Amino acid sequence: MIPIPLYCGQRVGVLGLGRSGLASARALAAGGAEVVAWDDGEAGRTGAVAEGFSLADLRAPAEIARCAALIVSPGIGHLYPSAHPAIEAAWAAGVPVDNDAGLFFAALPDGVSVIAVTGSNGKSTTAALTHHLAVEAGFRAHLGGNIGRGMLDLDPPRPGDVVVLELSSYQTDLARCLRPRVGVLTNLSPDHLDRHDGLGGYFAAKRRLFEIWPPELAVIGADEREGRSLGNALLGRAGRVAMIEGDTLSEEARLTVTGKTGAALDFDLSRALSLKGRHNRQNAACALTALLALGAEPAALQAGLESFGGLRHRMQRIGEAGGVVFVNDSKATNAEAAEKALLAFDRIRWILGGVPKAGGIAMLAPLLPKVRKAYLIGEAAEAFASQLGATPYEHCGTLAAALSAAAAQAEPGETVLLSPACASFDQFASFEARGAMFEDLVRDVVNRAS
Ligand code: ADP
Repeated sequence: MIPIPLYCGQRVGVLGLGRSGLASARALAAGGAEVVAWDDGEAGRTGAVAEGFSLADLRAPAEIARCAALIVSPGIGHLYPSAHPAIEAAWAAGVPVDNDAGLFFAALPDGVSVIAVTGSNGKSTTAALTHHLAVEAGFRAHLGGNIGRGMLDLDPPRPGDVVVLELSSYQTDLARCLRPRVGVLTNLSPDHLDRHDGLGGYFAAKRRLFEIWPPELAVIGADEREGRSLGNALLGRAGRVAMIEGDTLSEEARLTVTGKTGAALDFDLSRALSLKGRHNRQNAACALTALLALGAEPAALQAGLESFGGLRHRMQRIGEAGGVVFVNDSKATNAEAAEKALLAFDRIRWILGGVPKAGGIAMLAPLLPKVRKAYLIGEAAEAFASQLGATPYEHCGTLAAALSAAAAQAEPGETVLLSPACASFDQFASFEARGAMFEDLVRDVVNRAS
């Protein structure tokens, strides 16, 4: 845990008592603050009391007025579609509102290099890959934020350390202090529009990462107009702006990125088995550019690309049997995500289905020629069968039946891919549970084959 001494001897309100709120409460208390906590839900309050925190109804003007700051969890609306009454009360009382990211950066010791990753897609992959590459390159590195441990739950970083943070738009929107050494924006597409009152508000939330304290290096995906505009706005303000241009991502095996001195460096992705697909080349380009700026050796980064195991349930290569590769992409809960996986592989035995989203798999029609056969499961089976055109398919019902049929029928050189394009809730508790079952089933297949 990172103690936050900013409010030593002062009273601080913590609103929202889930994982991140409790971590903020602990960090502030360890730094000497008197924490008063509030959550509208009984369970959150009970959890805080069990840890010894005092409760105070922060919606009450008299309570909030006694606080030096109000720390808000990311799940709580702070502006749109409406602001929580405690936030309204803080505004009225002139009490600064902040969050865990703001506390983290305000208390950051000199000499710690933070690489902060935001974007609509690829945040977790880019953050995890950046951390992996940093370790491979010999840095003492930490990974947290939206991935793994909350950022205030990390061990206190020491000078020379690298901290890789995944930050959501909710976090960048509210944090009073943001000062990464390297800021990364992977890409931008509409998301969380209710919390930001539209795409403009969402982009404004993300760009704060770069504009409060312009970083030494801004790494920005140039696929969208917003990225190109932000890159331009940062010229002459950030130390350097590295745009990740689409045409550098088009080649399957080679990735060219710009090093510290502006020289182009080539990396070979042919043996980076967990970084298949154009979207992962974008993620890899962001991670490599960030680490080259910190002085990492290209040879170590190349080795790191090859040893990266991928994130669980995201196009994760689980194993191989008889020349057939098995890939778990259970995280693909909609057609847009499944599209990335279909683009990344050829000759696919595709396991899909579950609870369908609007539009089903209609947008995937251009990619169907890559599918040797579809294995349908769950509620979506009938609807998806009618959207598969001439692609052969089989109604399997369950994931176990689908995997067993696909494994039996697959030929060497083919990929058995679980990329459901659906939510999992008809048959599983979560996409993680669905992916975990797939992993177990594949392990059985691989063990039987060996
Ligand atoms: P996030 O943390 O932003 O949700 P993840 O790294 O967990 O992103 O990836 C989630 C899904 O998003 C992946 O399974 C893939 O379908 C898609 N994806 C990953 N990286 C990118 C990217 N750079 N561009 C577009 N889509 C991506």
